Amino acid sequence: MRTKVAIIGAGPAGLLLGQLLHTCGIDNIILERRDRGYVLARIRAGVLEQGTVDLLDQVGVAARLHREGLIHDGIELAFAGSRHRIDLKEATGKSVTIYGQTEVTRDLMDARDKCGLVTVYEADHVKPHDFDSDHPRVSYTKDGITHEIECDFIAGCDGSHGISRASVKPSAIETFERIYPFGWLGILSETPPVSPELIYSNHARGFALCTMRSMRRSRYYVQCSLDDHIDQWPDDRFWDELKRRLDQEAADKLVTGPSIEKSIAPLRSFVAEPMRFGRMVLAGDAAHIVPPTGAKGLNLAASDVHYLAQALREYYDEKSSAGIDHYSEKALSRVWKAVRFSWWMTAMMHRFPDTEGFGARIQLAELNYLVNSKAAAASLSENYVGLPY
Ligand SMILES: Cc1cc2nc3c(=O)[nH]c(=O)nc-3n(C[C@H](O)[C@H](O)[C@H](O)COP(=O)(O)OP(=O)(O)OC[C@H]3O[C@@H](n4cnc5c(N)ncnc54)[C@H](O)[C@@H]3O)c2cc1C
Repeated sequence: MRTKVAIIGAGPAGLLLGQLLHTCGIDNIILERRDRGYVLARIRAGVLEQGTVDLLDQVGVAARLHREGLIHDGIELAFAGSRHRIDLKEATGKSVTIYGQTEVTRDLMDARDKCGLVTVYEADHVKPHDFDSDHPRVSYTKDGITHEIECDFIAGCDGSHGISRASVKPSAIETFERIYPFGWLGILSETPPVSPELIYSNHARGFALCTMRSMRRSRYYVQCSLDDHIDQWPDDRFWDELKRRLDQEAADKLVTGPSIEKSIAPLRSFVAEPMRFGRMVLAGDAAHIVPPTGAKGLNLAASDVHYLAQALREYYDEKSSAGIDHYSEKALSRVWKAVRFSWWMTAMMHRFPDTEGFGARIQLAELNYLVNSKAAAASLSENYVGLPY
């Protein structure tokens, strides 16, 4: 088989890249280790920046998003027993859209099917080869038979545990990491959200987040210990703990119900540099991870593939390698700003082992500053709605 761009991974990065390339007439094949149902069942992100929505519009897959997505013009910060609204729209003129990653994935998969583009699901032993040469290849096994794809470029969109980054020789890559000493215990429930906008709560018992996927489906998180297991968290315990971390009005209004999904995610920041190795490029979680506090992971995957698709269009249409040569630098510049914002939100909102006396007072001072200073609120807002591409 031969294609221009072999994409490894059918997460949001790989699927969106595939559609962006298709709209520029650049043929591509996606290889995905899991089956389609498994990819669709992963419950993850839910907050889309305007830039991400614009990209989905650009590839013609945003009709359902515009029908079903919820536009949020603000978020609420809860601390010291009360809630304060940050008006994102007033500060930036922009909003965010609540629309689940599972729905984005479904829309992109459907569009890919309609265009007749090739996706190989349940591709085993995927392996990139010879990306230091002008003739890269990707091999994989399907139903016990080994196949090979010759291509011009390999796009590693295979998430943090993928094969693409792992195939780069260690001397060619530098990594930066911060592990946080806690995780997020999240549940999804068929209950109406407690508030029309997201509530980020800083509490002595730990962070809590009230978010949603629709006006009938809520997503709630509480900061938990890394040693915790979901078996230790029956639904009743979760709801009790969440209520204790909210202000009285929210706790009284909270509608509880059986969880339809429950999971624990550890939090970390991670960046691999560079994001290009000869004819293989990395995009999305394959190159970087952010703690979900700033709602940036999926949005960074989208901005990466936007830069990458532009670079590849330039390569094929204008016969110029300039875009490819600058891809890593351009993407990393935006990535590090989102890494900083996600780290800062995490530091401000969570209990750390040393958030005693002094640390807790500093968090309160910062939160009070944010809700009383237009400049500080504007800084949070412009990062939250997404820095320009
Ligand atoms: C609890 C939680 C909440 C989050 N909330 C938000 C949020 O509100 N907003 C936000 O923007 N982000 C959020 N994120 C992050 C977001 O989900 C990720 O950043 C996003 O999924 C990245 O997309 P991706 O395509 O780069 O990687 P992935 O979604 O990980 O996709 C990679 C794909 O590659 C496949 N793959 C892996 N290895 C191989 C292989 N060897 N061969 C072939 N295929 C392979 C995988 O099966 C997968 O389908 C959250 C994450 C978590 C865990």
